[in-house]
Formats: sequence, structure tokens, C-alpha cells
Amino acid sequence: MLDMIQTIDVGLVVLDKNYQVQVWNNFMETHSGLRPDQVQAKSLFELFPDLPEEWLRHKIDSVFFLKNRAFTTWEQRPHVFPFKNYRPITGTVDFMYQNITIIPLTSLTGIVTHISLIIYDVTDNAVNKLEAQRVNQELQVLSRTDKLTQLYNRGYWQDRLEQEFNRFVRNTSPCSLVMFDIDHFKKVNDTYGHPAGDKIISLVGETLRKIMRKTDIAGRYGGEEFAVILVDTDAAHAQGFCERLRTTIEAIKPVVEGIEIPFTISLGIAELDEQTASAKEWLANTDQALYQSKHGGRNQTQLFKAKS
Ligand code: GH3
Ligand code: MG
Ligand code: MG
Repeated sequence: MLDMIQTIDVGLVVLDKNYQVQVWNNFMETHSGLRPDQVQAKSLFELFPDLPEEWLRHKIDSVFFLKNRAFTTWEQRPHVFPFKNYRPITGTVDFMYQNITIIPLTSLTGIVTHISLIIYDVTDNAVNKLEAQRVNQELQVLSRTDKLTQLYNRGYWQDRLEQEFNRFVRNTSPCSLVMFDIDHFKKVNDTYGHPAGDKIISLVGETLRKIMRKTDIAGRYGGEEFAVILVDTDAAHAQGFCERLRTTIEAIKPVVEGIEIPFTISLGIAELDEQTASAKEWLANTDQALYQSKHGGRNQTQLFKAKS
């Protein structure tokens, strides 16, 4: 029995009521560097001053008191014992991730005289799970991002538009929607080629990201159409934003493969108000303002005005 306890691939520690070590198996010796004779009858908390003492005492005491098992997982605390990780596959992490079970050891008279800690090395599981979470998060970001501009793609942006619309219904801080479209973009493609056109689109994304606030929600709505939700912004301030964006873009005059390609954008704004019945209507209003800009000669900003 003792042989088995010595050689199993989990840590086994038996403590008395004073947290003094009574049993210390091979696993514990290997990972702590302390032999059983060095730890025998010594307090666990003196041997390991860095243990989360208060928390672990509380756990152990409750096992003594309630005569029930207790568990701790690596998700609550990555490790209790500061053991180094030597696993070859998951060697990138420094510490061994641990799950611990605390078991009451009851005497023949029904009194809990000792408790036993079983320490499981769950480094491989933990690292795999953390890695999966990280990849999931990255995928989530990728799945909502437009590759060319690094703005939100249309699908995700539309979800956000619905969200902002619903938020407005509950609280009434101003919110404006801006849509804009590159002027005569077909000609850019036709004259300079599709790759040059792509560069221009990505440049617009970059410029937009520089000018907007962190809280603004910007998406690539279509090929060369963009949409931005300006939160906490009324129409007058949205107009200021649009003009800044328009003049900045007008001034860029990018050089693509040695050729200067000046270009402009046309913009439309609709501030959200009580008359706007849905996110769809808000979008349509903004699109109508953009149409006015195109119709009015391009390279300009127009504000949606509801018919009274
Ligand atoms: P307007 O001033 O009225 O907006 O004129 P326009 O030529 O920009 O009009 P339109 O919206 O009809 O044309 C957009 C063009 O943008 C058509 C399409 O070939 C091009 N386009 C759409 N997506 C992309 C893209 O991802 N890359 C490139 N290079 N071109 C694109
Ligand atoms: Mg266009
Ligand atoms: Mg267009």
C-alpha cells in the first residue's frame, strides 16, 4: 500500500491538525526537492512560506470540520505548490498547473484526525484549454474584421448598429450615423488597376481609424462604402467629424507605384431621433443623405433632414 502511494504519479501529502506533514510521497519529493525526512512533522506553511496560507487553511479547516472532501482547480488558482513545469510538450509555462483534492481521514471513532492532499499535475490540460481559448478569441476577432481595412465587416457592424439603436431607445444620449463612399471609384480601378484601388480602400480605413474616437464603431459596409456610428455625438459634431475626414482624405493624394492618385469621398449623416423607427430606417436616412452629397456634386457632407 505504501509502495503504491510512493510511486503513483500524483502528489500525496497527509497533514495532522497542526498542518504538520505526516506523509510525503515520491511525487512531492521530486517536485519540491525536499525529502520526507526533511519535511516530517514540520508545518506545511513553514516549509512553503509562499503558499496562499489563509485560503488553504480555510479549505483544510473546513474539511476537518465538515468531514467532507474539498476541491480546488487550476482555474481558481493555477497552482498551490510552486512546482516547476518540466513537461516537454507544454514546456512553455513555468509552473505546474494543479488540481487538488482534500480528503478527510477519519479514525475508528469517527473523528477526523488527519487530512490528505492529493495534487494532480494538470499542466497539459490547462495549457491546451488556455491555448484553445486564445485561438477562439483570435478567431472571433478575425471573423468580425474586414481584412483590407481592419475595420468591422458588414455583418458584425450591422449587429452593432442594432445594438446602438436599442441602446438609444433606453437612454437618449445623442448618436449619429455616418456613411461615406469613395467618389468615381470605378475610374480609379479602370485607370490604375484593381490593386491600386485596393490600396486606396485600405488607406481610407487607416485614415478613418486615426480620426475616429476609440468608442466609435466603424465598418466597411460594401466595396468602397464605409459606415461609422458616432456614439454620444449629435449632428453638428458629426458634421465636424465628417468634414475633418473629408478634407484629410482630399489632402492625402496617395502615390501608388509612382503615380499620384488623388481621390475624394462623399458623406451622409443622420442623427438618431424619436422619429426613427428602426435601425434599418436610420441606415436608409443616412444613405439618403449620402445620395444628396453625390447628387450635389460629390466631395461633400450632407445631413439627413426629415420631411415635416
Ligand atoms: P460614385 O462617385 O457614384 O460612388 O462612383 P463610383 O465609381 O465609386 O460608383 P460605384 O459605387 O458604382 O462603383 C464602385 C466601384 O468600386 C465598383 C467596383 O468595381 C469597385 N470596388 C468594389 N469593391 C472593391 C474592392 O474591394 N477593391 C477594388 N479595387 N475595387 C472595388
Ligand atoms: Mg463610389
Ligand atoms: Mg459605391
